[in-house]
Amino acid sequence: MTEPQVEVRRSKRRRQTVSAYRDGDKVIVLLPDRMSRTEEKRWVADMLSRLQRSETRRRSPARESDEALVERCRQLSEKYLDGRAVPHGVRWVRPMRTRWASCTPSEGTIRVSRRLRDVPGWVLDYVLVHELAHLLVPGHGADFWAWVRGYPKTERAIGYLEGLSAAAHLELDLDGDVETPLGSKSDT
Ligand SMILES: [Zn+2]
Repeated sequence: MTEPQVEVRRSKRRRQTVSAYRDGDKVIVLLPDRMSRTEEKRWVADMLSRLQRSETRRRSPARESDEALVERCRQLSEKYLDGRAVPHGVRWVRPMRTRWASCTPSEGTIRVSRRLRDVPGWVLDYVLVHELAHLLVPGHGADFWAWVRGYPKTERAIGYLEGLSAAAHLELDLDGDVETPLGSKSDT
């Protein structure tokens, strides 16, 4: 993980507490106004490592390997898709230019961009449910979304991914994620 850009905000109202949160590719650290520069340095370093630890804890176990990814898909299919989506293959692939993931329903295969390895587990889960649902419904029609919305954090995850895409100055989404065996996009 590269060092994030840090913005320190001091508040007169804040007396005891220090907090930090991520805003796009920046980390905002909130400090009491009266804190010295030396204390500030120590607290910023401390808050960055705490933030990183908590983000690491929230990542998906599926990030470890293709096998772990397959296992996660099995669990999600069971929980949200009545176990009906049974992929023949799911694997991590090098970052794609415009997509977070893609699926070839006729072959039952799903590819997930390594860009998603470090997102919170609930965001990766949304992408997996989305791709698994394409094994049942290839397009992005109402019947497709009816399946996907069974995953309760769908809207939040879509928002998270939009933010991530904007922060990276990329135009990533899942709009053209369904492929035919020839590799042409079969829907939008
Ligand atoms: Zn899709």
